[in-house]
Amino acid sequence: MTIIARSSSLLRSTVFRSTRSSWLSQARYNSSVTRDPMTGEFTSMPDIEPSKLQFVKTDKPKQPPASSSLVFGHTFTDHMLTIPWSSSNGWGVPKIQPYAPLNLEPSATVFHYAQALFEGLKAYRDSKGRVTLFRPDMNMKRMNTSAARIALPTFNGDAVIELLKQLIKVDKHWIPDQPGYSLYLRPTLIGTQAALGIAPPTEALLFVICSPVGPYYPQGFKPVALYGTTEYTRACPGGIGAFKLGANYAPGVVAQKEAAKKGYVQNLWLWGPDHHITEVGTMNAFAVLKDANGVTELVTPPLDGVILPGVTRDSVLTLAREHAEGKTLLEGLPEPGKFKVSERPITMKEVKDASKQGRLVEFFGTGTAAVISPVDRIGYLGEDIHIPTGPDGMGPVSRPVWKQLSGIQSGAIPHPWSVVVTEE
Ligand SMILES: *Cc1c(COP(=O)(O)O)cnc(C)c1O
Repeated sequence: MTIIARSSSLLRSTVFRSTRSSWLSQARYNSSVTRDPMTGEFTSMPDIEPSKLQFVKTDKPKQPPASSSLVFGHTFTDHMLTIPWSSSNGWGVPKIQPYAPLNLEPSATVFHYAQALFEGLKAYRDSKGRVTLFRPDMNMKRMNTSAARIALPTFNGDAVIELLKQLIKVDKHWIPDQPGYSLYLRPTLIGTQAALGIAPPTEALLFVICSPVGPYYPQGFKPVALYGTTEYTRACPGGIGAFKLGANYAPGVVAQKEAAKKGYVQNLWLWGPDHHITEVGTMNAFAVLKDANGVTELVTPPLDGVILPGVTRDSVLTLAREHAEGKTLLEGLPEPGKFKVSERPITMKEVKDASKQGRLVEFFGTGTAAVISPVDRIGYLGEDIHIPTGPDGMGPVSRPVWKQLSGIQSGAIPHPWSVVVTEE
């Protein structure tokens, strides 16, 4: 009995740890390598080859709508990128072609077993007309990690970044040039084999569509109220919460509707008997606390397998740490000796206690769509925890970090994270 109990807890902790290290090390960036079924030798299948790109220009170009009328993710540009894959031929010819419905068999695995994953990143136009991407290598790394988790083919991320650039150049007149606007790119990978067996698909399709989007908060930051959700779980150890798989999102819609009925905008996803804070809707969660010595601590839960490794999360942590280490100071943040950054578990009890003791400084979510989303209230077990926000809706830590991050993204602040697509 003891042995069984011990080995199962060992197993659990291994799953936990291996999920974490898989994000760090298994970020496969290369083509699929398969074994020859006869000889057992490793054989490399063709990877994605940007030089083979075919371009079919639309003969019905649309007029981009007025920027002010854009609703997030409802308008798509004239073209899309498609790259087919099969287990016998590897990655096929990349094509930029008119945006159009896909032709798929009703038996395609994506419809039955959710063999689907996606990414989200933005192309920005700066004041000089230059178009840039923000840390696209991070999205490609994550896309490969997601693909490996559900036995979809992996690929060379640099090749897809090159093809993204080509696609953006074709449709760059769709990027609105007012500040805060951008072109949202949605790379997607699905299993397309026409067969009902549950197995790695022998056919897959990578495609990318583009949507012009406006600022998430056109009238300044509007803090949101969260519902500390104890009835549903978003992710669990050994599960798929750390991967951007389509299967993670449909179950959240009902939970979000129920939160909305109770008067909250989004779910605060909690995990386990101690109600560990994990994520905010589809954003990463951050809390800011002040300790008894007046040190301000920026806290986010660690990448332990239930947290989606957000690019914005990583960027906020990096900028905040560079400040805390005195490398690049951000105006407005507490001075380096009085500020620290932690990736550590944090529970609702800790947040509630900090609030009671007047030590809860702020709470916010991070993600590509909104960048930073401040929170002013958390409903938890029948009570509301109120969180301070400044007159602009933000707090003393999120404000300087947002200013720096959005400056880098828009191209106003030069930074290696900004990848040039085209100079004009
Ligand atoms: C996409 C996503 C995020 C944010 O990731 P970014 O790379 O910062 O956009 C956070 N949590 C979940 C569940 C997500 O799907």
